[in-house]
Amino acid sequence: MWPARTLHRFLDLIFPPVCPVCQSLFDGQGKDRVICTACRKAIRFVHPPLCPRCGLPYPGGKAHLCAACLKERRYFALHRTCALYEGTLREAIHRFKYQGVFPLKQVLGDLLEPVLKGMRRELRVDVLVPVPLHIRRLRERGFNQALLLVKELSRRTGIPYQERALAKIKETPVQISLKKRERAKNLKGVFQVKDEEAIKGKGVVLVDDVYTTGATVNECSRALLKAGAKQVAVLTVARAL
Ligand SMILES: [Zn+2]
Ligand SMILES: [Zn+2]
Repeated sequence: MWPARTLHRFLDLIFPPVCPVCQSLFDGQGKDRVICTACRKAIRFVHPPLCPRCGLPYPGGKAHLCAACLKERRYFALHRTCALYEGTLREAIHRFKYQGVFPLKQVLGDLLEPVLKGMRRELRVDVLVPVPLHIRRLRERGFNQALLLVKELSRRTGIPYQERALAKIKETPVQISLKKRERAKNLKGVFQVKDEEAIKGKGVVLVDDVYTTGATVNECSRALLKAGAKQVAVLTVARAL
């Protein structure tokens, strides 16, 4: 057996390491990192002040409940995200989700870990649950990106996860083309808790890649609470504004 380092050097000669997001060759410094320095720098992080419920950022403003949280019923206690869904991060999530560039889970895990730790200081976190895919979509794609993120987070923090507690029992059309109200209506009864014992009385953190209107995670949260979860909080990598 070759020592791992020698093997890596050899592989670098045949396949020069490129940034999986922008395809540029890594400089010497960036070599140990999964994405290049330029891509990393282009990520716009979400900082307080935020809407205390859904985490909508107010750059330069004051924290207050946003219009959507005042108007709509939120089943989750709070949602927190890492950065804005745009540019480099959007590209990274796309490559992870649709092209299966799995080393990116490290980058996304680096973003998620501190946010999860922050949430843990605010509320009870007993178990991580991924937003599920419908079985047909799962077969098409071959993996659930949210589950990969959950496993990465569980490995880093030691928080257990439940991959089959929540299921998507109905297929839904692609949500992008639908209006907010239609999106919410479309999701009624779509998620079901399959293993109540796994979540009963627990502080659940529901994990997904992107937060858009919050309709999906809200519906998941409703199902989890109905099945006896003590509280549901939501964690995503990125937020679309
Ligand atoms: Zn790059
Ligand atoms: Zn809000």
